[in-house]
Amino acid sequence: MSRRTLIAGNWKMNGSAAAVDAFASAIAADAGSTDADLLVCVPFVYIERMARGLAGTGVALGAQNLADVGEPGAYTGEVNGAMLRESGCTHVIVGHSERRAMYGETDSVVAAKLEAAVAAGLVPVVCVGETLAEREADRAEAVLSAQVDALFEQCRPESLARMVLAYEPVWAIGTGRSASPEQAQAIHAFLRGRIAQQDATLANSMQLLYGGSVKPDNAAALFAGADVDGALVGGASLKADSFLDIARAAP
Ligand code: PGA
Repeated sequence: MSRRTLIAGNWKMNGSAAAVDAFASAIAADAGSTDADLLVCVPFVYIERMARGLAGTGVALGAQNLADVGEPGAYTGEVNGAMLRESGCTHVIVGHSERRAMYGETDSVVAAKLEAAVAAGLVPVVCVGETLAEREADRAEAVLSAQVDALFEQCRPESLARMVLAYEPVWAIGTGRSASPEQAQAIHAFLRGRIAQQDATLANSMQLLYGGSVKPDNAAALFAGADVDGALVGGASLKADSFLDIARAAP
């Protein structure tokens, strides 16, 4: 089956009102120059502004996190999926390695957030990845298996059918040191095989994004991998021109 290519931007804790406006107007002028699907995930406070700027462009909007409970209530500082939907989001990043490492998100929290996202009608972009120490100890596949298996243990099949999976080796994020195209394809094939052990149809249809120092000059080589269905782009998504250059490198 042919999977669509998705190029997703993750602004992390970057941006400003002026940056949102500049990005949206540049994208609005040029979004038709790529066949890939585009998604940009901005800080909560800029979601509505970006939604206004991107209206009519076909570019999807996402958040970078959500509460693991759907019901509103006494959760100071949290934002639930329904709020994200109402603000214009269709997607949300779940389980980014920065949230796992800095904010204590366990596999179980990530699974709960996946379910909360789907319950609110959002597409969860779920991140997995190994650290450098884990790769050097030859444990990358074991770590990734544990992260993926936890989702299958804790999430409903119909929720898993909605997700996008992003492979983001921690050692490649923000370091300028991307995985090589061969390393990325090898892990993507491994992940697809792992998912196939649970559900072959789902393995075939699930979009697998690569993330970690994706730039205009390495994107085409990464996208050549048969199991690489797009990218989750951090730093290079902050400017519309580099983000679109990456999208135009998609096959
Ligand atoms: P990077 O970040 O492209 O800046 O390496 C990717 C990510 O963390 O999603």
